[in-house]
Amino acid sequence: MIKIEGVSKSYGNGAPALSNLNLEIEEGEFVFVVGASGSGKSTFIKLLLKELNPTEGTIVVDDVNLSKLKSRGTAKYRRKVGVVFQDFRLLQDRDVYSNIAFAQRVIGASPREIKKNVARVLSLVGLSEKYRSNPSELSGGEQQRVALARALVNKPQYILADEPTGNLDPENSWEIMKLLEKINEQGTTVIVVTHNMEIVKAMNKRVITMKKGVKVEDSKGEEQTDE
Ligand code: ADP
Ligand code: ADP
Repeated sequence: MIKIEGVSKSYGNGAPALSNLNLEIEEGEFVFVVGASGSGKSTFIKLLLKELNPTEGTIVVDDVNLSKLKSRGTAKYRRKVGVVFQDFRLLQDRDVYSNIAFAQRVIGASPREIKKNVARVLSLVGLSEKYRSNPSELSGGEQQRVALARALVNKPQYILADEPTGNLDPENSWEIMKLLEKINEQGTTVIVVTHNMEIVKAMNKRVITMKKGVKVEDSKGEEQTDE
């Protein structure tokens, strides 16, 4: 669970990028974070990745205060968090398989585990046939699915997606969102920063709206009446 209490972040000049943010994200939630450019969404993501520390307040993830983590603890914490970016950030000089295997090697997985886990995530994103392709041979939608597979291969508890559909056409955007939903249904907590209000409305999830560094709305999706 993520507990954000009284978090502000200033970059030193001008108004704070985030002001007195308070929110909790429970295990297994799917949350959209929306807001105009400059509203603090990237700052929020960077704080959750501990690329930045808050100027004030605390971020506690699964009972660990991120501000207290040293480099070793930070490395361990980051294994819990898979990240997906707008621009995919795949390594262009190696194939799909190696792009994903690389993340496993970093955490010291055995060759056997690597094979098994890469095959598992490629199948999950529907790209088992493409493991020998280079990113340059893939469409944008396929590249983002590879990036998602890479984010998932170490079995993270959390997925953070920063404008994951920003470079994709509507059809591929939907495909990525449906995959994120499926991953969430399998138990991963998913946080998605996006501008795509059409998708946000249709998905019917919790939506946190930011404006000039302030949380102005936090609305649950409508209850699904399946009980
Ligand atoms: P968003 O992701 O919603 O566009 P950001 O978190 O990037 O918002 O930015 C929030 C505010 O913080 C903006 O006013 C932006 O100009 C400012 N900001 C972001 N990064 C920096 C930085 N490295 N140095 C100074 N100001 C920054
Ligand atoms: P290297 O560092 O030598 O590239 P990798 O661990 O990345 O080693 O991969 C070894 C090779 O195994 C890959 O290039 C890939 O083509 C191949 N491979 C074997 N089995 C599979 C599989 N089930 N799915 C994908 N690739 C596989």
